[in-house]
Amino acid sequence: MNESYDPVGPQANPWIAGLHPYEPGRPIEEVARELGIEDVAGIAKLASNENVLGPSPRAVAAMRDAADQMHLYPDGGAYYLRQKLASRLGVAPEQILMTHGSNEGIELLGHTFLQAGRRIVMSERAFVVYRLVANLFHAKVAAVPMAGFTHDLDAMADAIDPDTRLVFIANPNNPTGTMVDEAALDRFMDRVPSPVAVVIDEAYRELLPPERQPDTIKYVVEGRPVFLLRTFSKAYGLAGLRLGYAVSTPEGIGLLNRTRQPFNVNAMAQVAALAALDDDAFLARTRDLVQDGLAFLAERSTALGLNYVPSVANFMLIEVGQGREVFEALQRKKMIVRAMDGYGLPDHIRVTVGTREQNKQMMAALQDVLNARRK
Ligand SMILES: *Cc1c(COP(=O)(O)O)cnc(C)c1O
Repeated sequence: MNESYDPVGPQANPWIAGLHPYEPGRPIEEVARELGIEDVAGIAKLASNENVLGPSPRAVAAMRDAADQMHLYPDGGAYYLRQKLASRLGVAPEQILMTHGSNEGIELLGHTFLQAGRRIVMSERAFVVYRLVANLFHAKVAAVPMAGFTHDLDAMADAIDPDTRLVFIANPNNPTGTMVDEAALDRFMDRVPSPVAVVIDEAYRELLPPERQPDTIKYVVEGRPVFLLRTFSKAYGLAGLRLGYAVSTPEGIGLLNRTRQPFNVNAMAQVAALAALDDDAFLARTRDLVQDGLAFLAERSTALGLNYVPSVANFMLIEVGQGREVFEALQRKKMIVRAMDGYGLPDHIRVTVGTREQNKQMMAALQDVLNARRK
């Protein structure tokens, strides 16, 4: 960037220059350019918890059919998609807002509830975007220590003060892969003072077997101040389209709806999601692949003498020691994972579950890296 070009800096909101841009998982093409590798197919990206099976085939077919309609603006109200989700979830369409990824939902919550002098409560090792959005709106962050690698909901309830407007619970949590169960959520919800809104980010929910998915819709139906965030980026394999949604009371959704752009959700995403929602076979295959992969990563970690955090999502934290170095060494072996120093876990890497072949390559590469280091 050209440092001499700064005509507006002094006019900008004073806290903006101090914000830290989000560090995403590195794109395959970027790593290929850096390593001078032409064959991008040889690089495995296990860094962003994407679905390695690709998108649902039904979604792909629907997108092909819809390609020649892309000169038209989308339905800004996403009528059919909200109808379909509402009937599945047992809520009214007015209780659902489609968003440009669930990340946009987090930002719209910031627009709606946060400003200087207000505060969010989150877990110390939860999804970093909550913190980034709080910073964006100049709100304060209470980052509550975890109990082990799991959200400590009692400590989070204790951390709520009169300035607190939002409490964020990622369940299952990224980057730890752990979850709190429905009974723990019930207890927490009963403790939260009523003007504070609870955000339950369920990005990995659909990867859980249905009997382990907490019933969180009931909080919405009971009219509690709660926002559920869900996404098509993970189990449905549509991260590239950017589509998520929020579920809340009609009043809560009405507020968020005032803060969004008119066409925040694109037409291709709407078409793909409608088809993906009917693809139960794809979801089942995804769950099987993830279960299988987690078992393999756990078994190989143990064989290498490494601690890991047992996960219910599609990724796993592995304690390798000097995670950033291992991340870089793995990258030179064409395996892209995630360093965790940004989360205060400098000794861990986070590995997304890949295909069986990728998981094998990954753990073989990790073994090589660790052996080289021990020499
Ligand atoms: C991946 C992830 C999301 C999803 O973000 P999108 O914007 O929907 O792609 C949200 N929350 C958590 C905790 C995640 O890990």
